Amino acid sequence: MLIIDGKKVSLDLKNELQTSVESCKALTGKVPGLAVIIVGQDPASQVYVRNKAKTCKEIGMFSTAIEMPADTTQEHLLDTIAKLNSDPLIHGILVQQPLPKHIDEFAVTLAIDPAKDVDGFHPENLGRLVMGHLDKCFVSCTPYGILELLGRYNIDTKGKHCVVVGRSNIVGKPMANLMLQKLPTTNCTVTICHSATKDIPFYTRQADILIAAIGQAKFITADMVKPGAVVIDVGINRIDDPSTKSGTRLVGDVDFEGVSTVASAMTPVPGGVGPMTIAMLLKNTLHSFQRQNGL
Ligand code: NDP
Repeated sequence: MLIIDGKKVSLDLKNELQTSVESCKALTGKVPGLAVIIVGQDPASQVYVRNKAKTCKEIGMFSTAIEMPADTTQEHLLDTIAKLNSDPLIHGILVQQPLPKHIDEFAVTLAIDPAKDVDGFHPENLGRLVMGHLDKCFVSCTPYGILELLGRYNIDTKGKHCVVVGRSNIVGKPMANLMLQKLPTTNCTVTICHSATKDIPFYTRQADILIAAIGQAKFITADMVKPGAVVIDVGINRIDDPSTKSGTRLVGDVDFEGVSTVASAMTPVPGGVGPMTIAMLLKNTLHSFQRQNGL
């Protein structure tokens, strides 16, 4: 069974991005810039934001983290986004989710200039993705990272049956739409399952490529997988594990031990899809810079 090593691919990608950032600087005297807004004190979000800033620095990009208190008004947040929309040093804007309940996430998504929406959440970017204009949009980072993994591991996708479990706007829906596109790393027949799907194993057992993005620890078991399938695990779930120092550990939506006896290739958790997401965010920021500078 082949392990699809997202950690290794993300490191390769960061090296490639570093080279691209250097040539952007040589050509224009400027570097790509990413602004990350965080509202409130959610510890997991703070870790993500710190990691993004650290990785930007490693590859030579400019980054700024704007920390706002949990009681920030929606108006103030939208004003901050408007300033970043017109800031020439900033090519990518990301608002870390989750946001406090009094803030309308969709209004925030709509406020970001689609040309700087490196998360790919704006309806203009999602719409262009659905229409297949991938060179003129930002693809949301997790599905984009999965595409990159499938490509770098030369996974045969043309005409295959891809089953995506999960239909969120940030993972499941863009993922399924990407797999439907006529690209070298997609071109699949696609089925989407969700919480109202009757008999999910009936569908997953037909998958040549199975992508699980539901947030339920070890939901996909060996009996739900077709022998030889390629299994991509997006889930990040923390479960109790008294044998570890912290008493918990991270697992995916797929029962790795069981499914690895059936699948031909799999992404592990951690070290699979997760590290790719941040790398693709930086790739989108680089693309934004290149587009805005006519490169
Ligand atoms: P959401 O909670 O937004 O969506 C989950 C989806 O799974 C929904 O469509 C839901 O169905 C479906 N679902 C939930 N339970 C079941 C079930 N028992 N059977 C079938 N379908 C089910 O999650 P996200 O898409 O944001 O994230 C999914 C997982 O991926 C999480 O573990 C998250 O932490 C992880 N993640 C990982 C990333 C990475 O970089 N590796 C990035 C983003 C997310 P319905 O629509 O009917 O409610």
